[in-house]
Amino acid sequence: MNKTSIVPETDERAALREAVTGLVGRYGHDYFVARARAHEEPTALWKDLGAGGFLGVHLPERYGGGGGTLGDLSVVVEAASAAGCPLLMTVISPAICGTILARHASEEMNRRWLTGIADGSTKMAFAITEPDAGSNSHEITTTAHRDGDGWRLSGTKYWTSGVDEADAILVVARSGTAEAGRTRRPLSLFVVPTDSPGLTWQPIEAALVQPEHQFTVWFDDVPLGPEALIGDDGNGLRQVFSGLNPERITAASISNGISRYALDKAAAYATQRTVWKGVPIGAHQGVAHPLAEAYIGVAQARLMTARAAELFDAGADAAEASNIAKFAAADASLRALDQAMQTHGGNGLALEYGLADLWFLARMLKTAPVSREMVLNFVAQHSLGLPSSY
Ligand SMILES: Cc1cc2nc3c(=O)[nH]c(=O)nc-3n(C[C@H](O)[C@H](O)[C@H](O)COP(=O)(O)OP(=O)(O)OC[C@H]3O[C@@H](n4cnc5c(N)ncnc54)[C@H](O)[C@@H]3O)c2cc1C
Repeated sequence: MNKTSIVPETDERAALREAVTGLVGRYGHDYFVARARAHEEPTALWKDLGAGGFLGVHLPERYGGGGGTLGDLSVVVEAASAAGCPLLMTVISPAICGTILARHASEEMNRRWLTGIADGSTKMAFAITEPDAGSNSHEITTTAHRDGDGWRLSGTKYWTSGVDEADAILVVARSGTAEAGRTRRPLSLFVVPTDSPGLTWQPIEAALVQPEHQFTVWFDDVPLGPEALIGDDGNGLRQVFSGLNPERITAASISNGISRYALDKAAAYATQRTVWKGVPIGAHQGVAHPLAEAYIGVAQARLMTARAAELFDAGADAAEASNIAKFAAADASLRALDQAMQTHGGNGLALEYGLADLWFLARMLKTAPVSREMVLNFVAQHSLGLPSSY
């Protein structure tokens, strides 16, 4: 495989990538799968990533972060994934929750939560999806009703990842009073500790081989103090948007890492496996060309992801680029993983070759955190100026 990064990188970025590759490589894909199968958190790896400053690389130094950029976190997430450990919580806790808190939370809230997110000692889940709202988050009904100087939170969230391992959940809810002429109350964001009374959850049995699990979460009149609100009451829509591009960019980075991991394995296998006349199977163009084509798709997705992060870090509008990156990376990783499995013949399905167990994760990234149809809706409407269909 070409060891020169196709994405232009500073020496610092290259050193960051190398450091994460080295650290995660000591654990490897076997560690990841073993934790997933044992239903155990990848605690040792998470602690090492936190202690190395990698989880908080993009967060402000005043809260223990590295003072770097989302582009840096994207490199961390991709490198971990390429080393066989595609951790969903890297997208959720530091990328989504960390970015939202750093931008909108008070000094007190950030001291309480962001410092732990930065060093990995605290994990935060993110709950926006609801059973009856799904892609259409304008329809969410989880509501925080005023109670003294605090709130009482009620509602149901669906497919919330990592609640069992999180210390708190960043919840998107309705609160306050609807503006004149509107029926829906505005959105607000709350940090809800997972040991709050009235908070319960139940696992959703999913096909993914993943240490992080997904849950239906019920908030039954959960009491929240005034300190639970992020920023201003009713300002949740604007606040949550600052976490969505980081979500898309780091989700794309997970896909890109899976692609690199799969193509590395495929290239190694195709070079050493011989079944006809002493020639490695990689010498047959029927094997080599689909891998080369997959590599081109991955290179394009990686460049788009880097560009999206660059725009985000420059404070520019990164929505189009983040959506395109997420879409391209998910599709490219499915092609790369599929072709890597095909290159391995029957062994592509054998768990010991460490490819088949990634299938459902790669496939999931086509649907979540934003589905390919919602990306196409965005591009049709905002990039092409077509009328909205919904
Ligand atoms: C493994 C996993 C982990 C997840 N983790 C989290 C998490 O941590 N936190 C969280 O809040 N959520 C999480 N989710 C939820 C995820 O974000 C949603 O599943 C995703 O946004 C799609 O929503 P939905 O499942 O309700 O699908 P629906 O909205 O019901 O959509 C169903 C299908 O219809 C399509 N569709 C819907 N509307 C349109 C339209 N207008 N035009 C064209 N097509 C349309 C969709 O693209 C999709 O293909 C997770 C999901 C999975 C599978």
